[in-house]
Amino acid sequence: MSIVQRLARPAILALPPVDIAGAPVPGTVRLDANENPYLPLVQGQPGINRYPDPQPLSLRRRMADLYGVTADRLWVTRGSDDAIDLLIRAFCEAGRDSIAIVEPTFSAYAQFARVQGADVVRARLTDDFRFDADAVIAACRDARPKLLFLCTPNNPTGTPVDPADVRRIAGALPDTLVIADEAYGEFSDQPSLAAEAEGNVAVLRTLSKAYGLAGARIGCLIGSPELVDLVSRVSPPYPLPGPSIAAALDALGPERMPIHRQRVADLLAERARLAGALRGVDEIRSVREGGNFLFLEVADPEDLARRLAAAAVRVRFRPNAAPGGVRITVGTAEENAAVLGVFGLAADRPGRRASVVRDTKETRIALAIDLDRDGPRQIDSGVPFFDHMLDQVAAHGGFALTLACDGDTDIDPHHSVEDVAIALGTALNRALGDKRGIGRFGFALPMDETEAQVLIDLSGRPFARFDGSFATPAVGDLPTQMVPHIFRSIADSLGAAIHVRVSGENDHHKVEACFKAFGRALRQGLAIEGRGDALPSTKGML
Ligand SMILES: *Cc1c(COP(=O)(O)O)cnc(C)c1O
Repeated sequence: MSIVQRLARPAILALPPVDIAGAPVPGTVRLDANENPYLPLVQGQPGINRYPDPQPLSLRRRMADLYGVTADRLWVTRGSDDAIDLLIRAFCEAGRDSIAIVEPTFSAYAQFARVQGADVVRARLTDDFRFDADAVIAACRDARPKLLFLCTPNNPTGTPVDPADVRRIAGALPDTLVIADEAYGEFSDQPSLAAEAEGNVAVLRTLSKAYGLAGARIGCLIGSPELVDLVSRVSPPYPLPGPSIAAALDALGPERMPIHRQRVADLLAERARLAGALRGVDEIRSVREGGNFLFLEVADPEDLARRLAAAAVRVRFRPNAAPGGVRITVGTAEENAAVLGVFGLAADRPGRRASVVRDTKETRIALAIDLDRDGPRQIDSGVPFFDHMLDQVAAHGGFALTLACDGDTDIDPHHSVEDVAIALGTALNRALGDKRGIGRFGFALPMDETEAQVLIDLSGRPFARFDGSFATPAVGDLPTQMVPHIFRSIADSLGAAIHVRVSGENDHHKVEACFKAFGRALRQGLAIEGRGDALPSTKGML
């Protein structure tokens, strides 16, 4: 008998699959679900008068691909909270069965167990919040919980659980389903157990944390196909809202992934910076890092609570984890500055970052810039020579640029080139914020026989002028007629006057010189004068 058959509630094993009208099939007359035939009176959600696909294969496949498993091993849930609830309902008989947790940890495990009338077996981290596999095995051996939840890295202490410990525990407890909750897996350097979720090991993942979709409520359970089948029987008929399915598919678009990765890296860097700053504060006894949060032990939580309230900053006090336990989520540079301010640390200058996603029928673009960082540059417009030019702009402009475009370059590079230029101008405009309107900048450069000059006025008023011509139709895969067009698109979306003048013999030199000079002129416009930590202001004062 398999582990699922041995442990599942007999009533659930005997339960037939949910009786639903079935997924919508295009081209059929759909009178099987008592839906309302009229379009909903809601903008942008034309399909929500119909029930959604209970488990859309596209999303199931995309998430399976993301976590490195096959689709039959993954069940999409309404957030991973829902997966916790489904597991407990599928396995725990009220008044008889139990789950086990390792405290202090995420409160939902015990909460859902109580709802189901299941007991909670409690193991603990060590006094300094390390994970002790032997203590967990000892606590579970006689109690024989149906489910053991291991949160890795642990919320709220940040404690990682070594995958080898999870394997060892699963081996030592053959009558317990061991569930690794990897809600913060993307922020950890521990490898995921998803590919090993088999037998009595299962994994939970979520799009709420690393992919910024907490409001969409999309997560998943990963395990043996038999476990997935069992959980599907406990699931309500149409668990996933249509708009959430669409949002998840959008957010997981391959052209978005470089920005997701960059954001995780940025949050980790920010986490380390915050931890470093807070370690020097007297009232803080300890600082731990994990996931996208910090866990502090403070001397006087009541006093801190008053100061946080005065600054309108909300964090989570976790007295059950430690007497002065506080969990602080890593936010934007501005939000983190507010927290640092509460601890009496000087706030840094707010960062100048922006991200733009732009989807049309012809292109899907995700672009992020950081004007205060000289790299990284990761550019994939689908037009390699244009990538090279954009790399010149960012390198000479002195800013970080992450950009991916999935466009119809099989037809012509036109759409991708134009739309990327618009997205870049839009991002520059947003990131510059109140710096707009104050600067006129220019740069001229020779390149062999070629001379290029670019003048920029960040005036808020778009205007583009291009003096120069090209003798050849294309340089690399970039049509030369697109070059003036690119500067026009950037001028329009950035809100700037951009004057380009170029002369010379060699078209390759001429194109490259234009982009280099543009980057150099931008660098002057992006530079923050003075000590570098003052807010840029049209008044020249804070
Ligand atoms: C946030 C969190 C979840 C829940 O995530 P959702 O997918 O939003 O339900 C699950 N487990 C842990 C440990 C969490 O911190």
